[in-house]
Amino acid sequence: MQIKNNNCLNHPNKKAISFCHICNNYYCEECLIEGREYYYCHKENCFQEYKKDLENFLESYDTNPRFCPQCIKETSDESTGDINSTNLVGTKLVQIDGGTCLLCKSIIVEKQYEIFGFRVKSFGFYRVIQFKKYRTDLVGSKETIFYARKLLNQKKILL
Ligand SMILES: [Zn+2]
Ligand SMILES: [Zn+2]
Ligand SMILES: [Zn+2]
Repeated sequence: MQIKNNNCLNHPNKKAISFCHICNNYYCEECLIEGREYYYCHKENCFQEYKKDLENFLESYDTNPRFCPQCIKETSDESTGDINSTNLVGTKLVQIDGGTCLLCKSIIVEKQYEIFGFRVKSFGFYRVIQFKKYRTDLVGSKETIFYARKLLNQKKILL
């Protein structure tokens, strides 16, 4: 995305961060809405396009769930790595209360090292989407798909 030295259309003394994908006007951070791929402004027509983009996202969610823009913004693409606990010794993921995203339904988990069920070490917090998908090669069987992204702000969770 190209960022010119323009100022915001609504706020002539504020620097623009980018432009609206529909009307191509430059705006400051406050005046832009971040879509999945592009920015949109709050003007009626442009906002409708943003809503359409969001609806497309939600419609295809059942067959192809993925993180919403906000959750992507708050995480990095670092995944959890292997999770493996044998006889209650090893790594596991434990869900943190209250972290569910209403839009993409991802949850927050902590990757822990456990010894006999006791949490002895933390490997940090992740957003996770887990769902079952019908396999196309084996009729009637499902596979579990798991996506994880590490939270950028690890401290916020520990409060
Ligand atoms: Zn616009
Ligand atoms: Zn502005
Ligand atoms: Zn989300």
